[in-house]
Amino acid sequence: MRIVLVGPPGAGKGTQAAYLAQNLSIPHIATGDLFRANISQGTDLGKQARAYMDAGQLVPDEVTIGMAKDRMAQEDAAGGFLLDGFPRNVGQAEALDVMLKDEGVKLDAVLDLEVPEDEVVKRIAGRRVCRNNSAHVFHLTYNPPKDEGVCDACGGELYQRDDDSEETVRTRLEVYHTQTEPIIDYYRAQGLVVTISALGKVADVTARAMEALKPANEG
Ligand code: AMP
Repeated sequence: MRIVLVGPPGAGKGTQAAYLAQNLSIPHIATGDLFRANISQGTDLGKQARAYMDAGQLVPDEVTIGMAKDRMAQEDAAGGFLLDGFPRNVGQAEALDVMLKDEGVKLDAVLDLEVPEDEVVKRIAGRRVCRNNSAHVFHLTYNPPKDEGVCDACGGELYQRDDDSEETVRTRLEVYHTQTEPIIDYYRAQGLVVTISALGKVADVTARAMEALKPANEG
């Protein structure tokens, strides 16, 4: 299956993507994670991306599209993938369509995670992420780790992302509304969008998502 996950920052895309990718046996491709890996490795690409990320802005398409394309060209993605955080504007969605067309394949579904704005702000303010694996995500109130600052899953250090500060979150939400939300209409015109509520327990949202993806998976 080839799936795109969309939703505002704090919707739980990373958390859900990890479970969904596992359930569907497809790789989870997150452009935000790819950028963060480049930053921690000190690559040129990381240097180019950093200032945009810290400001909560989108990294320019010239950088992002090439990076996403390289990742999707890897062998493990030949049979399908779950895209998390890409595309993030209509230009990227169009570029993805061209890429897929060149390969003679199509998207199966675009899963839209819906969550009210006040909930998003609460989720991001308390979010703590594992340095070893960004799919290990905790929340100080909703999903606290057993030991403060330590990942339950692997013992890694938990930290607050630089771009999770209140001011940057406001910019990221604005960027989401103005630049990313239009891709939902773009994909709706292709009949690909399934919308679910991202409220409630993580496992309940995963179950809801699997149910919503069933027709695309079976079709
Ligand atoms: P995320 O981990 O998905 O929240 O992404 C963190 C940051 O990485 C975003 O705020 C952007 O600065 C950058 N980023 C991730 N994916 C993209 C993308 N598809 N296009 C442009 N910038 C991106």
